[in-house]
Amino acid sequence: FQQTGRSRDAIVAARRNALLPNLSMSYSEPIKFVRGEGVWLIDDRGRAYLDCFNNVCHLGHAHPDVVRALSWQAGLLNTNTRYLHDNIVTYAERLTATLPGDLTVATFACSGSEANSLMLRMMRAHTGREEAIVLDWAYHGTTQELIDLSPYKYKRKGGKGRKPHVYEATIPDPYRAPSDWAQDEIASRYAESVAEQIERMRKAGKAPGLFLAESIPSVAGQVFLPDGYLREVYAIVRAAGGICAADEVQVGFGRVGSHWWAFETQGVVPDIVTMGKPIGNGHPMAAVVTTREIAASFNNGMEYFNTFGGNPVSCAVGLAVLDVIERDNLRQNALDTGNYLLQRFEEMKARYDIIGDVRGQGLFLGIELVTDCKTKHPATEIARAINNGAKQRGVLMGTEGPHDNILKLRPPMIFSRANADYLVDVLEDTFADVLSNQ
Ligand code: PMP
Repeated sequence: FQQTGRSRDAIVAARRNALLPNLSMSYSEPIKFVRGEGVWLIDDRGRAYLDCFNNVCHLGHAHPDVVRALSWQAGLLNTNTRYLHDNIVTYAERLTATLPGDLTVATFACSGSEANSLMLRMMRAHTGREEAIVLDWAYHGTTQELIDLSPYKYKRKGGKGRKPHVYEATIPDPYRAPSDWAQDEIASRYAESVAEQIERMRKAGKAPGLFLAESIPSVAGQVFLPDGYLREVYAIVRAAGGICAADEVQVGFGRVGSHWWAFETQGVVPDIVTMGKPIGNGHPMAAVVTTREIAASFNNGMEYFNTFGGNPVSCAVGLAVLDVIERDNLRQNALDTGNYLLQRFEEMKARYDIIGDVRGQGLFLGIELVTDCKTKHPATEIARAINNGAKQRGVLMGTEGPHDNILKLRPPMIFSRANADYLVDVLEDTFADVLSNQ
């Protein structure tokens, strides 16, 4: 294996000189990757890491069908959407066919942030309102208007706090629900927090334009909404004249296995769905899908034009991604492998007091670490040590949540039973090692 390019240290130094200083690096000893293949990332020393973290490479790194579709179309034609082309309409038809209800109108952008910004414009055009309800510790994108809707950003260092048009509902985390709530009332109790925000608006002479949530809040710590939560919340918000948007940027495209879209596990149909990350298996693209009615409101005389969004190359890539998910039954694989992982994690939970909760749907999983199972005090340092220990043993994962105490796993949809065993072996080894040093 031949090392090429600059050394790790030289790249770190060059980043300092040539790049924005707030561009962060993963791990205290950052990795230089030179190649990706399937579930593996290969570093500059030829070492392979099992990628259980990067959900953008939905079908696995450098998937040959995607690479072929991309390079073939790039060699033929790439241009903007004001000229006619098959790819954009075929892709729009194929994408909307995966969605339920009246979600029939698609438009394309280049990043999840762009998709969410466009969703906000649609909401404003349709409702004439600005007021939005988001969940605590949510993240929805990097533009200023989306930072304003992202407690994860505006509440932390560098943030400027909550803006008056933004209302925060409690994160409906079943694991951290008050112990005196009965199991079957958790969804309603958390939904009350949304009703309370609408009441606050009403007192200020306002009403909600938007309820925006990830269908599985990820940055908030891989939180799986209690059954029935979105059904109640959507009803409350719609009764007050607002619309409901699902941010599927992280969790969409069959990751949950049982469905194409994670909101479907809650039995609801949003008014707008935004998509990104896995949509192009690494090619920068994004989409917004909405109803004919909202699309008509948005069509207010101002053109929507996006130089790169919906171009023939991006749509060829998007089509290849959908083809592979369907042809290779990847949703079924996500479900089977995800369930197997959950079962293995449950077995670990029975042996390690530090594991407070394990949760997951398909290949979107979390392991919450706590110093005490009763108080549920977050085990932030141990989570960090385990994340680093797993990396040293050749497995990439992440930590997430307001206290960074949740191990976050989102491996590619091709993740096999053997990959799952490898991950669990590494986790077992790392847990034993880290905990013996406590
Ligand atoms: N929404 C969610 C839930 C996300 O996780 C992200 C990216 N982390 C975004 C929106 C923004 O996407 P992008 O970085 O592609 O602009």
